[in-house]
Amino acid sequence: MFCSGDPTMFKEYWERMGDKSSITITGWQSLSYFSNTSNICWFLEPEFEKEVRRIHSVVGNAVAEDYHIVVGNGSSQLFQAALFALSPANAPHPMNVVSAVPYYSSYPALTEYLKSGLYKWAGDACNFEEEEPYIELVTSPNNPDGFIREAVVNRGKLGKLVHDLAYYWPQYTAITAPADYDLMLFTVSKCTGHAGTRIGWALVKDREVATKMTKFIELNTIGVSKDSQLRAAKILQVLSNCCECARPGETENFFKHFRGQMTERWDRLRAVVKCSDLFSLPEYPVEFCNFFGDFFEAQPAFAWLKCREYIEDCESFLKSHKIITRSGRHFGVNSKYVRISMLDRDSTFNLLLQRLSTIIQNTH
Ligand code: PMP
Repeated sequence: MFCSGDPTMFKEYWERMGDKSSITITGWQSLSYFSNTSNICWFLEPEFEKEVRRIHSVVGNAVAEDYHIVVGNGSSQLFQAALFALSPANAPHPMNVVSAVPYYSSYPALTEYLKSGLYKWAGDACNFEEEEPYIELVTSPNNPDGFIREAVVNRGKLGKLVHDLAYYWPQYTAITAPADYDLMLFTVSKCTGHAGTRIGWALVKDREVATKMTKFIELNTIGVSKDSQLRAAKILQVLSNCCECARPGETENFFKHFRGQMTERWDRLRAVVKCSDLFSLPEYPVEFCNFFGDFFEAQPAFAWLKCREYIEDCESFLKSHKIITRSGRHFGVNSKYVRISMLDRDSTFNLLLQRLSTIIQNTH
């Protein structure tokens, strides 16, 4: 499937890791609801917390010291916990939630589906002109277009920011500085590929916000699976170990290996697209990556493809050639754009290139 962001590409690495990334959970583990009653997030497994802090310090993509960690059932649950925590409980009107187009297609639905009295979707951050409180969602690198982003509204105390950093990992983009925003969301889904483990985490500066986010998860699911946290801890541990111990030239370093794979995929996709003027792709600046110690250009998890003017509906056009994508309409822009996953397994990615090549050959 080219339209979802299912990260099946990463499976071959974990298969090669074999039992190094396995854990055993005994029958007498995970009975209690509680993990650490002295922590604000009382259902956070200490082992998972330790590995989250460690991976950020090894990769250098976020400052984790002095931050509270809240674990969630994927970053999707933490996103909702953040809206709950940042919206005042007794305001006269629901809080505006905005994000600059093209924004992650799930934000409007996640914000609106419960018709909350606390917050409401207010659309494109670039068009937000109200002198009212708001929450701005900043996704960086952005899903769908892969660009590094900053907040666009900047209306001082009226605004609260949520930074969704799901893709701020070195297989996708240069790590230029450790992020130190007030509220940052991460997920194993896009970092290691373990989307089915349903584990995300928030780094939260403010104690009260962390407490309210924890309350949301308590009310929503009474915590987060300990089994999943322990598994995610093991996976993150393997990741940190491979970064610290892999010798130069080896492919065992996860990020190095997948940076190579992503470069190859992007080079092949660009080579196909360049054969005609039917489609175009964004160009990214070359930046210095502190993690790898060299320069490279972003190679995002999604290709944000634009069709030529005379193709009104790019999604339907590609669908008629057996390529399933997600239309720009879902991301707040027009149907000339589509998003295509770059994280599918090799066989599916090869099929995508084959079918794109066929379209291009036949329209010459
Ligand atoms: N944020 C962004 C920007 C995403 O692309 C995704 C997954 N597509 C998520 C959050 C949700 O991730 P999770 O699997 O952790 O719920």
